Amino acid sequence: MIKNINVALIGNPNTGKTSVFNALTGLNQKVGNYPGITVEKKQGSCRLDRVTKARILDLPGTYSINASSMDESVVVELLLNKNNPDYPDVAVVVTEVENLKRNLLLFTQIKDLEIPTVLLINMSDQMQRKGIKIDMEKLEEKLNTKVVLVSTRRNSGVDQLKQILVEYRSISTTPLMNPKEIDPTYFENLEKAFPNQSLYKLWLVITQDVNFMQLERKKVEDTTHFKTQTKTYLKKLQQRETIKRYQMINQILKATYEVNRKEAKDLRIQLDNIMIHKFWGYAIFFLILLMIFQAIFEWSSVPMDMIDSSFAQLSEWIKNQMPAGILTDLLAEGVISGLGGIVIFIPQIAFLFLFISVLEETGYMSRVVFLMDRGLRRFGLSGKSVVPLISGTACAIPAVMATRNIENWKERLITILVVPFTTCSARLPVYLILIALVIPDGRLLGFNYQGLTLMGLYFLGFLMAILSASVLNNFLKSPNKSYFVVEMPNYKLPLLKNVLLTVWEKTRSFVIEAGKIILAISILLWFMASFGPGKNFSNAEQIITQEYADQPIEPEVLECKIAAFKLENSYIGVLGKTIEPLIRPLGYDWKIGIALISSFAAREVFVGTLATIYSVESDTQETIKNRMAGEKRKNGLPRFNLATGISLMLFYAFAMQCMSTLAIVKKETNSWKWPTIQLFSMTLIAYLAALLAYQMLK
Ligand code: GDP
Ligand code: MG
Repeated sequence: MIKNINVALIGNPNTGKTSVFNALTGLNQKVGNYPGITVEKKQGSCRLDRVTKARILDLPGTYSINASSMDESVVVELLLNKNNPDYPDVAVVVTEVENLKRNLLLFTQIKDLEIPTVLLINMSDQMQRKGIKIDMEKLEEKLNTKVVLVSTRRNSGVDQLKQILVEYRSISTTPLMNPKEIDPTYFENLEKAFPNQSLYKLWLVITQDVNFMQLERKKVEDTTHFKTQTKTYLKKLQQRETIKRYQMINQILKATYEVNRKEAKDLRIQLDNIMIHKFWGYAIFFLILLMIFQAIFEWSSVPMDMIDSSFAQLSEWIKNQMPAGILTDLLAEGVISGLGGIVIFIPQIAFLFLFISVLEETGYMSRVVFLMDRGLRRFGLSGKSVVPLISGTACAIPAVMATRNIENWKERLITILVVPFTTCSARLPVYLILIALVIPDGRLLGFNYQGLTLMGLYFLGFLMAILSASVLNNFLKSPNKSYFVVEMPNYKLPLLKNVLLTVWEKTRSFVIEAGKIILAISILLWFMASFGPGKNFSNAEQIITQEYADQPIEPEVLECKIAAFKLENSYIGVLGKTIEPLIRPLGYDWKIGIALISSFAAREVFVGTLATIYSVESDTQETIKNRMAGEKRKNGLPRFNLATGISLMLFYAFAMQCMSTLAIVKKETNSWKWPTIQLFSMTLIAYLAALLAYQMLK
């Protein structure tokens, strides 16, 4: 019989929780959300020995269990609620060898919740270089638990951790501190009112700032025979608790922990002199961005071309192999082109996340946050907004979720509202195909024009985000000002495993989440293009044949004319034509109109939509790009010229064309007001910008 145990990984941010989690679970992990809120939940499983299996939970980083953000409240809520199915049988507090003192505050708090708590000291590979020595035996004795030294980088200590987890029942659950040390009278009264309960737990339920979803604080507060005291008084007690704990920790470390400070001045200080320098810091950040965008553009073109032509061949193959009919058409034109439209973006998304996760892993991202705080504050954003804004380059949805780390509501709201301006990966395919069509392939100072245009679009997105933030900053009122503390982790070589798992996870979720929508819409579009209302559609063949009856015309040309006529009269043609008057001033026709409409479900559908529309029109197997390049206006000039291309890029840069983002904003702001404002104002801006661009360039 297999025994299942719950293990929770808890610790300060950047101590290596996720690395430990990855070392334990490998690919046996899944990422979801906590029910009702949007904090990311990482869960995995690990076989500890022949009879024990652990369910491992990688909890959000937290400094203490006095929660001040959503992320932290998830941790507190779990630890205080025995009925939660994830309630840990054993907690592993992940700490880091260099900041052990600060990390231990959280450890002592969790230990006092009477959960078996293991202390994991990570990054043991740094000990020698930093001159750190730890007396493990004494530390175990003083903390009254198991302590394990781990280096996920060298993969040492992980087996020992598994062994400790197997034997978790032997770990003492006696608290380290008696709450009565904080305030004897208060806690004695509490004990009288609630006998036989853990005082420390009770007190946490009373004092937390966040509103728990599952725990009922009212029960405690409403008890008539116990007065909970004023908020300020409770805050004072919390501070006293922290002081008491640090006194205890200092004493323990004095006897067990030793640092030889001589070696402390190292690479980090020298590097930071440059990386956060007033001029060089920004210059380096700019260069890194430039490199990333060149790489995304040039490196991904080879696999993308391969994917593009493979799907074209596959579709052709199906047409040849299967009997002609609706099912074959559905497969060859609806399903395959839809799938192709998903798979083709994998190379770029993977590259982008490769870079983002390397920047995070090396510790450089925190320097970026530091650099940007100075500037962003002026616009009503916080230094912490940089992470959402940069994550927005992947997708606005995780980015909006990442704003939960911003404590100040106004700064958070502004960040949520402007994040959709940053160029998400769904816009990338639209940009790439338009750039390839209308921007010439020359070079300026060694940089390719097309790459520069792409970078320009990314900057435009950020610029618009900043501009609208500063407008919003003047309109929105805020009760309190915020302060900002940034922690700079050491520079490190990235852990390959962490980077690869991030890339894998994000790409997979793109394929699954966005893929579902793209595929569904591709099929819907195929349906709408293959069927139509009224007589014109069903009698297309007759009508066209009659029209050309007295003209000499080749059979293939006639076929094409029929197909085009059918498309014009299909459901989708009718829809596109309905909005044509509205978008003609922007340089678009009804076919682009169809693509615009379907983009409101997901922007990346744009290319697939055009591909579907044009593939219905022509029977020759060409790549999407060639099909678009061959598209003509009535006067014989190409449909996609510089003016249309730029106008479309601007429209996509600014328009709020993503139902999923609107849904997440509604959820995060808890009202329809903000997503509605977002939808209308962004789309209006987009329309005006595209109009201006087309009228000036045509
Ligand atoms: P989390 O925020 O607690 O989930 O921490 P992560 O797992 O994301 O790790 C934070 C940073 O520490 C990353 O840059 C890791 O590469 C690095 N790191 C993790 N484990 C080790 C280790 O054993 N040794 C060293 N030197 N660095 C590590
Ligand atoms: Mg983590």
